[in-house]
Amino acid sequence: MKPAAPSPACPVCGFSPLAEAPRSPAGGASYEICPCCGFQFGYDDDARGETYLNHRQRWIAGGMKWWSRGQKAPANWHPEAQLESLRRVEAPQKSSQIPGGRAAGSGYSAAGMGRQTSDVRDNVSTVRAAGGLVWRRGARGLELALIRRARHGDNEWSLPKGKLDPGETFEEAAVREVEEETGIRARLLRFAGVMQYEVKGDNKVVCLWDMEAIGEGRAYDNGEVKEVRWVTREEALKLLTHEQNRELLRHLPPPPL
Ligand SMILES: [Zn+2]
Repeated sequence: MKPAAPSPACPVCGFSPLAEAPRSPAGGASYEICPCCGFQFGYDDDARGETYLNHRQRWIAGGMKWWSRGQKAPANWHPEAQLESLRRVEAPQKSSQIPGGRAAGSGYSAAGMGRQTSDVRDNVSTVRAAGGLVWRRGARGLELALIRRARHGDNEWSLPKGKLDPGETFEEAAVREVEEETGIRARLLRFAGVMQYEVKGDNKVVCLWDMEAIGEGRAYDNGEVKEVRWVTREEALKLLTHEQNRELLRHLPPPPL
């Protein structure tokens, strides 16, 4: 999903250069350990079920410390700038640059993951949300669940998503929000991407997962959601109201179903 970079960057923390690309085009792992965040490609993720996002969240929550004892951090090492470079890859939409120079991406780090509210601008809080692209194999092949929200004259087509509850992880919130907004029980398949935007001056970050529908859940709240519809990928690209949603879907490889 990420374009090959001239000097390989760590997809977990954004550190560059790594000695080798973490994955060869054929998918083989480098087994290199990122000196910045300590992620080992081909080990952590494969052997322990660790994901880039989980590792990144923990690295950020732990204060974004340089990991390697044997190799010193570069003199100009700037972990927030690294995360900003990652965010550009993961959230293709034009980010809202914060006036005054610090990029919104610094918010991403806060956002992302760990720190609850303040980012580099004082008094700007980060709203953390999660949701899903819920897939099934239906009569017309792969189908995606979209919701029509009671907004914009009841005509906003969207992916199911919502804010994290206190103490909840992004993953837990994604599964819960999907069930609450669609009535579908789903399981996580893989991390799909991040969307970031400003809402009334707050920085909002939404982490999304590809999910597989596995059953019926509780009935959804039809005050908030007017309709749940299974659509093909092509239909979804036409229906989705927000460009960020369409952009994410356009660049996503087919779900592993
Ligand atoms: Zn790293």
